[in-house]
Amino acid sequence: MIRTKLWLMKFSAKDQINQIQSKLKKLFNQAGFDSIIKKHDITAIKTHFGEKGVNSYLSADYIEPIVRKIKSCGAKPFVSDTNVLYKSLRDNAIDHIALAHEHGFTYETLGANIIIADGIVGKNEVEIDIDAPINKTVSIATEFITANSIIVMTHATGHLATGFGATIKNIGMGMSSKKGKLTQHSVSKPIINSRKCTNCGVCSQWCPADAITIKKDYSEIINEKCIGCGECLAVCRFDSVNFRWNATNNKLQQQIAEHALGIIRAKTNRIGFFTFLINMTKQCDCIPHKSDFILEDIGVIAGTDPVAIDQAVLDLTKMQGQNINELSFPGIDGEEQLRYGEKIGLGSRDYILEEVK
Ligand code: SF4
Ligand code: SF4
Repeated sequence: MIRTKLWLMKFSAKDQINQIQSKLKKLFNQAGFDSIIKKHDITAIKTHFGEKGVNSYLSADYIEPIVRKIKSCGAKPFVSDTNVLYKSLRDNAIDHIALAHEHGFTYETLGANIIIADGIVGKNEVEIDIDAPINKTVSIATEFITANSIIVMTHATGHLATGFGATIKNIGMGMSSKKGKLTQHSVSKPIINSRKCTNCGVCSQWCPADAITIKKDYSEIINEKCIGCGECLAVCRFDSVNFRWNATNNKLQQQIAEHALGIIRAKTNRIGFFTFLINMTKQCDCIPHKSDFILEDIGVIAGTDPVAIDQAVLDLTKMQGQNINELSFPGIDGEEQLRYGEKIGLGSRDYILEEVK
């Protein structure tokens, strides 16, 4: 059996940025990304611009050297993400781009334009045939399919619904249209603990489906309306919202892996991944507040297999007996996305890692 080759470049976010940038350019070539990008390609760089108030998203400083490398291949890069399901400045392209500018992602800092891949309100999508056990087709954001090649830049974090979120999560959820995201989330429905709920109403302000009613003493979720986006759980400050994790998180991870398969099928041999193990937090970059960093910085992994990279994320973050998943959400088995991903042909958990100095 051929083991998947991955490359690791160690660095800390505290290192000098010009040193990090030259290492990233070197890693781009070492990982063979200069042969993924062809002359005259339109190339998408998938990233995450960070929810308002977040302190851990990947800054424009890490993207700019990759823009340069793509241009040196004779291609035209654009920097991209999709709109989110929940109420947020990132739920439409106009506010999303304005927030990206506020977070330092501009033409001047990136050297490329920002294009939100699923259009102004998240409805621009292409159905990709995957013929997988759950979905026959998946809904992927149009401009990721329009692009000839893609470089995905992922920030690894813990994740409240999948234990940890890295490459598979960034492509499966992060490159789907709103319809694709809805399909993935439809397996999980939360409940509000009426004894803990203070009836503050914050969850109902954020709920994108108007699925929360405020009663006399507590709030309640209307199951039939709930789309399972998880936003109420993220915004509740009183620990009053719970998911039925055991029943749902494996299915959610399987859905994410199938949507990731849609991207891999559509861009066979034309997609490369950088997954950053720096500024790692318990919560993902969608949760709108500052977070403490829970692990020492490690660096960045590069490769073309999302399953192998996410296995390496778990292995490399196992520093004091617990990996990023176990440190963040020990009750959630985040490895289902790897097991299921391997089963449906998304990639292999068996890898070898070469350090790039
Ligand atoms: S945010 Fe939490 S405490 Fe406030 S109404 Fe919703 S469930 Fe209750
Ligand atoms: S009630 Fe359902 S739809 Fe509304 S925020 Fe919570 S998970 Fe999302």
